[in-house]
Amino acid sequence: MTRLFASDAWCPPGPPAPGWIAVDDGVIVDLGRGRAPGGTRRVEDLGAAVLAPGFVDLQCNGVGADDFAAGEAAGWERAAVTLAGHGTTSYCATLISASLESYGSPLRTAQTVRDAPAERGANLLGVHLEGPFLGGAPGAHDPDLLRTADTPWLRDRLTAYPGVVRIVTLAPEADPGFMATRLLVDAGIVVALGHSRASCADALAAADAGATVVTHLFNGMEPLHHREPGLAGAALDDDRLTPTLIADGVHVHPVVLRLALARKRNVALVSDAVAVTDGVVARDGAAYLVDGTLTGAIKLLDEGVATLVRSGIPIERAVEVATAVPAHVLGLLDRGRLAVGTRADFVSLDPETLAVRATWIGGERVAGNIDA
Ligand code: ZN
Repeated sequence: MTRLFASDAWCPPGPPAPGWIAVDDGVIVDLGRGRAPGGTRRVEDLGAAVLAPGFVDLQCNGVGADDFAAGEAAGWERAAVTLAGHGTTSYCATLISASLESYGSPLRTAQTVRDAPAERGANLLGVHLEGPFLGGAPGAHDPDLLRTADTPWLRDRLTAYPGVVRIVTLAPEADPGFMATRLLVDAGIVVALGHSRASCADALAAADAGATVVTHLFNGMEPLHHREPGLAGAALDDDRLTPTLIADGVHVHPVVLRLALARKRNVALVSDAVAVTDGVVARDGAAYLVDGTLTGAIKLLDEGVATLVRSGIPIERAVEVATAVPAHVLGLLDRGRLAVGTRADFVSLDPETLAVRATWIGGERVAGNIDA
């Protein structure tokens, strides 16, 4: 049965305006501007709300007390439900640097959760391995765990867990001859550059080898310098590279958020959210190790979008960088946009605060209560 959802501020590409989408069997089958067509088909009028695609988070380490690295399926399921409540409908579970022996449990869990997704939870796209093949800017990663890229280990993981790993963040200086980059790109896995002191030339050489993303631009790399633009300069200048940005209001100053979004269309918002577990302190809207090192965010993409809008970014751009751009990074054409033929993953946001009122995944409302 086709169901229609109408809103005063429908938000496909372009500024919000009244519009509607029609959903059947989990897919958007029709849509248009203006008033929803009448007739016998039921229209759910969302009223004064921003109707936008569900958010796509390419980097999320955990939510609340649930750390994906713990590898417990129940924790992953709880996290997926929490993510959906915050408007994230697809995500990559992200694992930071660990010993090579310790990846088995979370990768197995990812396989299980992907094959039998949690009801009412965000859709697991796969795993983002952030490390351990990182370089000279480890941030909160334990330097003792960092190592040169181990291509046989990677090849074995890809064989043992087919389709599970979707993104690998590595540092060019940890990948001699770009052997790992080429292996991953040939296997259809996105290579992101990060936690690195790479020069601009080295970053561009990595892009030549197939890297397409720069992980959390400005964090975990040298600052942009006018004589050595480094990884940040390469990320901003080369259109083959999509930088990701943490827009929690702590990791990157609003001025720099505006500069990055003004320079590049293809910027993807990530939460880089971490679980608040032993050894992690939540303070002033971000997460810190006990020694004071910034270790990640605690805000999710709903607050990221709101932060961008508060920083002066138009709502349609803020939505685009949290939806269409990250979907495009993984080559996903079936989500990240409100368009005929895409998955009916969408959110209704308060037009003033941009707080999530409700989330739909595959056309089913999984979170929120717009009547509240
Ligand atoms: Zn990081």
